[in-house]
Amino acid sequence: MKVTDHIKKANGKTLFSFEVIPPQKGKNIQDLYNNIDPLMEFNPPFIDVTTSREEYVYVDRGNGLLDKRITRMRPGTVGICASIMHKYKVDAIPHLLCGGFTKEETEYVLVDCHYLGIDNVVALRGDARKDESYFVPTEGGNAYASELVQQISNLNKGQYLHDDIKVEHNYDFCVGVAGYPEKHMESPSLNTDLKRLKAKVDAGADYVVTQMFFDNKKYFEFLDKARTIGITVPIIPGIKPIAVKRHLQILPQVFKIDLPEELIEAVEGCKDNKAVREVGIEFAIQQSKELRDAGVPFLHYYSMGKSDNIKAIASALF
Ligand code: FAD
Repeated sequence: MKVTDHIKKANGKTLFSFEVIPPQKGKNIQDLYNNIDPLMEFNPPFIDVTTSREEYVYVDRGNGLLDKRITRMRPGTVGICASIMHKYKVDAIPHLLCGGFTKEETEYVLVDCHYLGIDNVVALRGDARKDESYFVPTEGGNAYASELVQQISNLNKGQYLHDDIKVEHNYDFCVGVAGYPEKHMESPSLNTDLKRLKAKVDAGADYVVTQMFFDNKKYFEFLDKARTIGITVPIIPGIKPIAVKRHLQILPQVFKIDLPEELIEAVEGCKDNKAVREVGIEFAIQQSKELRDAGVPFLHYYSMGKSDNIKAIASALF
């Protein structure tokens, strides 16, 4: 079922959803299930599955030399979606990236998704590869998420990349895109970034999921500004509980987001990471309650491979 239909069906009630990361190559999928299992009692209508960029690894040739090879360390996004749908009977949503995929490869992934009964996809540009200082579009690929959304919209209208295909059946993907309450790090201003978000919606995006944020005021202002410029689709807040002290450095560095003073002080006052986890849970509960009271359609949690804190938060809310 489409995310937008889940929202309609909920009739104003706030729903629970979360994002998981595929296991690293060589790891068992059971680890992933062990993290999903405790969250199923909160009835998530959907689970998002991320896609990782390809990266360079160095393989020891045994003669003192190293081979440089490019690989994806966490493959299997679409396969994991299929297994989640099969095992838990909920919708699973693959993240599709521009980076690392030609348009042709993206078309194949979309065909796979359609055959598997996947109704939703999240269209993203992806970050720069680890060895690149800025995002470089893949040759033959989409350069911006708006182009990827357009490719999916075209396919929904029966337009494949090669227009000599006899179409007997159109696809009907519901498309999510990313939004940034504190602006995307590469954007010169929030207003410019919002215009880019509008371009994604105009290209066919059906809903937005936000980057994590810790100050609800920023989400509410973002929502107001988005509505003012004519973005009418649902905007789902993304929430990440602080779990370790190092998050105070890592999250602003990686995601270019601010943390509220009260949260920083509370985390700095913790004697160990067990205490930090408790602070993160309590903060996320209060943040989520305010968002729920404001009528957000979903509270979407970034689980980052660990679900005990998400379970504690969901228990207080759902
Ligand atoms: P875009 O919307 O293409 O925007 C990228 C930048 O380009 C922005 O600064 C925008 O303002 C600018 N821009 C857009 N269009 C134009 C234009 N026409 N001209 C000039 N500038 C333009 N990353 C992963 O690798 N895997 C994932 O699974 C993943 N999941 C995510 C899920 C969510 C909910 C979010 C919020 C992010 C996720 N990311 C993921 C991270 C995301 O890939 C990065 O934030 C990436 O840098 C931007 O992706 P985007 O889709 O927002 O890009």
